[in-house]
Amino acid sequence: MKMFVAGEWKETSETIDVVNPYDGSVIDTVPKGTAGNVDAALSTLVDGARVMRQMPAFERARILQRAADLVQQRAEDLARTISMEEGKVLGEARVEAQRGGEVLAVSAEEAKRIAGEMIPLDAAENGAGKMGFTLRVPCGIVAAITPFNFPLNLVTHKVGPAIAGGNAVIVKPASDTPLSALKLTEILLEAGMPESAIACVTGSGGELGKAICEDDRVRKISFTGSYEVGDAICRMAGMKKVTMELGSNSPVIIMDDADLEKAAQAVCAAGYANAGQVCISAQRILTSSKVGGDFLDALRPKVEALTLGDQLADGSKMGPMVRERDAERVEEWINEAVAAGAQLVTGGKRERALYQPTILDQVDPDMKVSREELFGPAVAVTRFDNIEDAIRLANDTSFGLSAGVFTQDLDRAMRFAREVDSGNIHINWSSQWRADFMPYGGLKHSGMGKEGPHYALREMTEEKMVVLHLKS
Ligand code: NAP
Repeated sequence: MKMFVAGEWKETSETIDVVNPYDGSVIDTVPKGTAGNVDAALSTLVDGARVMRQMPAFERARILQRAADLVQQRAEDLARTISMEEGKVLGEARVEAQRGGEVLAVSAEEAKRIAGEMIPLDAAENGAGKMGFTLRVPCGIVAAITPFNFPLNLVTHKVGPAIAGGNAVIVKPASDTPLSALKLTEILLEAGMPESAIACVTGSGGELGKAICEDDRVRKISFTGSYEVGDAICRMAGMKKVTMELGSNSPVIIMDDADLEKAAQAVCAAGYANAGQVCISAQRILTSSKVGGDFLDALRPKVEALTLGDQLADGSKMGPMVRERDAERVEEWINEAVAAGAQLVTGGKRERALYQPTILDQVDPDMKVSREELFGPAVAVTRFDNIEDAIRLANDTSFGLSAGVFTQDLDRAMRFAREVDSGNIHINWSSQWRADFMPYGGLKHSGMGKEGPHYALREMTEEKMVVLHLKS
């Protein structure tokens, strides 16, 4: 495919291969854009931002709703593209395509609800005769830098609210999975997005990222990806607004009164979806030592039933990881943990980018499989003796994106909700659950700011205070 820069579809002499991670076959190529392409894109987007600022809300909502309809019409093609370039099984890719359409539809609704508030200025001693209200105005140019693991839905989470808020937008998709974002750009243009107000630039994150993040024509950066890159972007951004949706090593806590069958079902769903490459994957399973053995007995057969194979094949429940080198890294960390005393309950073998769904027991919190973000198809089980221990272990991490707790006791559940440092807390489900319209974002090194169109819109608009100094 070509990239969309400065109002036209462009090729470059150098290209990047987009590869199916299952068999290494080249699906397509995309341009390897340069800092010069970013500069050209931003020059046009300056004009596009003026066009968007003038565009009434109903028109922005119409563009987004038409785009949502087109995504639904083309859901099967988008799902196959997602599955082929990313490696998730087709069933999961279909859900992602459907969700992408819904995020655009919710953004269309939110475009109609951007409102300020009345401020009762006469509450101040010097405020008599004054009237005040706030206005929300577009930021101008929003940069959307997105990761590989949800190549469509996480792009809609940024472009939807950006357009709803009356901004122009530049998208920089992950180099491994750029095709879904390019197809979304085609859809937005077809839906009526002004050509001057959108760009989708493909190429190396290092080079394009610097060009985008250091440029003062960009007012807002919305980034989803790893902590390391997020940290680098914050340093480059200077005086810009930033939203950071970063990684995690999410805990799921299983108390001695948990419904173990439900907990096993939830951990199985949350530990291995998209081969564990979800920011809120269940990674650290903290179980009460009283029920740890019974929980593993319930979990193990479920994990062993996850057929690993070609992501496009009907029988596959789990596909490859996005790159062979990521599967090698997971293999290395798991082997290291086993050598240091962790117990392999099931899995533990790799073939190319395919890594078996794996359970490790007796994991020390300082092992990499627990301490770092694994981003692979394995869970690490650690036992605890009491609730204080459970909370201490859950918080013993630099991350804080999502956490789950299984207990029948409301007081214990509420104690977790208050004391576990996490942007999302699930009671009687695992860390991996999301409705796209809810406020979503992390604490600590998992980021700052919220997504979900209503909340992202606040971050993609600026607030002005207007004071009327009336005669009386
Ligand atoms: P990544 O390596 O951080 O890359 C994310 C994006 O940043 C890509 O488009 C990448 O481009 C670009 N990039 C790389 N270096 C850059 C730089 N110096 N400046 C600006 N941009 C740069 O992350 P990933 O491997 O794609 O995704 C996995 C990570 O995302 C995990 O940590 C996961 O937890 C996190 N994630 C978080 C959420 C959330 O909502 N909190 C959701 C999904 C994923 P290239 O591909 O060209 O390098």
